[in-house]
Amino acid sequence: MDLYEHQARELFEEHGILVPRAEVTDSPKEAREIARRLGGRVVVKAQVKTGGRGKAGGVKLAADPAAAELTARQILGMDIKGHTVGKVMLAQPVDIETEFYVSYVLDRAAGGFLAIASAEGGMDIEEVAATRPDAVARVHIDPAEGVTSAKAGEIAEAAGLPPQTVDVLVRLWEVLIREDALLVEVNPLVRTRQGQILALDGKVTLDDNARFRQARWGAEGAEHDDPLEAVAAAKGLNYVKLDGEVGIIGNGAGLVMSTLDVVAGCGARPANFLDIGGGASAQIMADGLSVILSDPAVKSVFVNVFGGITACDAVADGIVQALDTVQLTRPLVVRLDGNNAARGRAILDERAHPLVQQATTMDGAARRAAELANAA
Ligand code: GDP
Ligand code: MN
Repeated sequence: MDLYEHQARELFEEHGILVPRAEVTDSPKEAREIARRLGGRVVVKAQVKTGGRGKAGGVKLAADPAAAELTARQILGMDIKGHTVGKVMLAQPVDIETEFYVSYVLDRAAGGFLAIASAEGGMDIEEVAATRPDAVARVHIDPAEGVTSAKAGEIAEAAGLPPQTVDVLVRLWEVLIREDALLVEVNPLVRTRQGQILALDGKVTLDDNARFRQARWGAEGAEHDDPLEAVAAAKGLNYVKLDGEVGIIGNGAGLVMSTLDVVAGCGARPANFLDIGGGASAQIMADGLSVILSDPAVKSVFVNVFGGITACDAVADGIVQALDTVQLTRPLVVRLDGNNAARGRAILDERAHPLVQQATTMDGAARRAAELANAA
């Protein structure tokens, strides 16, 4: 689970990292009051679980309480990359001298954590990383040793951060460990003109497996980070949104995982993980298809089913009925194999929907779905 910026800010503060004074609200009127309490001038910041708020117009300076109310009114309800702004944080503006980037992230392949840090933080860190990778330091962290002062010194030196940041680097590691996080990111970590080091923005991703130990997040913890994931969860679907173009539906987590790999192997990127489990009823098919088709990034859909307890003809019936309730707007490639596959294929052949095609193998179907997605 990702935390909101204001929650990350709260954790940083609890662990002794300096942060600007700030308060959160969902009301423009209250924003005016908060701005007054904070001294008049404030930064108004959209609280959404996605980055790039600044560039999307979700971070704005307001000169006085009246402007803060107006700005809050503008930002509340705004859509930022599919996330609707429900709350704003008002923060005391900081006089920035330099912006740095620091993060700790789980590095599964290396069996440890990775510190990523740069003396060139701010809104364009992705571009810095892409165009001048040497400006971004990467330091492996042995999880058993953690980030000691010595280790923090090594990270700061590798990235060209001032020695004052060492203390923050150690405390940020404590946030990661104590709060069961998989990622903590501060961008920007700033040095103010007064020489203080402050965390101006924060992203924290908690390990869902440790949710039982982090009860403080309560109902918030059950919230989904992606709006489509929330819709899917409400329908009881096991759906995870990914970045690609090929929508994927399969039965059984193992089959769906391998389907993602095979699609990736065919030169396309999966748009999601969706396991419809054992009972592929028409309703589940319709729900699954409608969730996947409401993702505008999806260019083709691949239904990959290996009939076991649920026979392929039942799945095919499900697809045919789903086609009556869901407007199919992109091509659907279906591969049915296993129990009653021939009967299932015949049912789809008979329906003869112009956007539905069948393939007999998983590889063949993945190739077709990838071609369709890449041609779209
Ligand atoms: P993001 O775009 O979602 O990463 O939002 P940030 O909270 O990182 O804000 C984006 C940018 O706004 C930062 O990189 C800063 O340059 C600027 N910014 C945010 N807060 C302040 C502030 O208090 N003072 C100044 N001068 N700039 C700020
Ligand atoms: Mn930021």
